[in-house]
Amino acid sequence: MGTLRDGQAEVDSWYRLTAAPWPRQPALAGSTRVDVAILGGGLTGLSAAIELAKAGRKVIVLEAREVGWGASGRSGGQAIFGFGCDQHKITQALGRDDSRKLFDWSLEGMRLLRERIGEFDIWCDWQDGHAHVPIKPRQVKELLGWRDDLEQNFNYPLAWWDRDQLRAHLASDRYLGALYDPNSGHLHPLNYTLGLARAALALGVVIHEHSEVIELTQGKTARLRTSQGEVVADSVVLAGNAYVHGIAPELDMRIMPVGTYIGATVPLGPERARALIGNGMAVADINWALDYFRLSSDNRLLFGGRASYSTLKPWNLAGIMATRMRRVFPQLSDVAFDKVWGGYVDISLSRAPHWGRTAPNVYFAQGFSGHGIAATGLAGRVIAEAICMQSDRLDVFARLKHMPFPGGRLLRTPLLVAAMAWYKLRDALW
Ligand SMILES: Cc1cc2nc3c(=O)[nH]c(=O)nc-3n(C[C@H](O)[C@H](O)[C@H](O)COP(=O)(O)OP(=O)(O)OC[C@H]3O[C@@H](n4cnc5c(N)ncnc54)[C@H](O)[C@@H]3O)c2cc1C
Repeated sequence: MGTLRDGQAEVDSWYRLTAAPWPRQPALAGSTRVDVAILGGGLTGLSAAIELAKAGRKVIVLEAREVGWGASGRSGGQAIFGFGCDQHKITQALGRDDSRKLFDWSLEGMRLLRERIGEFDIWCDWQDGHAHVPIKPRQVKELLGWRDDLEQNFNYPLAWWDRDQLRAHLASDRYLGALYDPNSGHLHPLNYTLGLARAALALGVVIHEHSEVIELTQGKTARLRTSQGEVVADSVVLAGNAYVHGIAPELDMRIMPVGTYIGATVPLGPERARALIGNGMAVADINWALDYFRLSSDNRLLFGGRASYSTLKPWNLAGIMATRMRRVFPQLSDVAFDKVWGGYVDISLSRAPHWGRTAPNVYFAQGFSGHGIAATGLAGRVIAEAICMQSDRLDVFARLKHMPFPGGRLLRTPLLVAAMAWYKLRDALW
């Protein structure tokens, strides 16, 4: 039985059209012995692989499809500080001191992203600047409260722009202002992921594509079995995120795969593109089912939104995405989408990161909750440290307790769909 949650999400993306060359890696065949075996060739697995190889460990990465096939190669590309939940949830769970540590580490995740782009010379269209934008007066209050909390308790000042200031950069009347962060930004996520994979290879990591792990046997040494081979390892990293299931059931029940979708318009030309977002920043609203968008390096609008909590691909996806885009930019009424694709995000019940161990030598990171571009780099590093006997940081993350989704295997999706319908209704009404 396969362990890969495939669903109906599309992989045929603008990122694939513009992907950097990548030498396909052979499937695992036969038996091999390593220090660390990593399940998953996305940002988390590759980040851990790079750190472990730098620390002198013999590392193998097993990827069921191809490097970057999962969320890492399909995402909105918006790299933002913090985690998928409000920081105050982390403060409630861990107390002020540890919450502050986690926040500072999330900034390390942002630095790591930039450092790796430089260190490994990764061509991935990095662009500074990100704005969270409110649609409703209550969301203005929410963002201003967030700004005050970040400044006073986390020493992270952000700029507040009123409607006119925002309008100078963004040609949309939909928003009431913006909380702007020059330190966050956006990139081509597939090319960043492939860049990390190339760096891992150069550091001596062995990557096997088309090598789906179908069984994990835990023990003093662990075994990962694929259809044609087996890896015996002192330590294992489970980095399969929303796509893996059946390998570690205690992890499966603590995240919910939620489908989310993105469209790339036809090229708009430099002038029309710059007229939309003059300063090139990425933008996200703060609705529960949010819209997020940015320009691509070839002057398209990349517009994301329309989550599917039932994991079924929405009917008439391109039409729905076009309607959403035109709500923000009515001036694009003549513009069509060239590509529409999607993938699963790994939502935890609290939206807080779920990182830790399932056994003394089996490590995992999941629950990025749609906020993983920078946090995955940190997760890989923190897990690598723990494997190298420095587990203080992973231990702090592991103190965040995660409840299973209510309803068990059969009911959790319908219950989530009902809960999300309520949040969407709230966004629509006030
Ligand atoms: C459409 C979309 C938009 C997003 N937008 C943003 C955004 O703008 N900003 C942001 O911060 N985050 C965003 N995210 C979230 C972010 O992309 C993820 O948090 C991050 O990429 C997770 O990386 P990962 O390596 O943990 O998982 P993945 O990239 O999903 O990698 C997991 C890999 O494991 C492999 N795998 C699974 N099972 C097995 C198995 N049994 N054997 C071997 N391999 C296996 C899969 O094939 C996959 O390649 C978005 C996600 C999606 C889907």
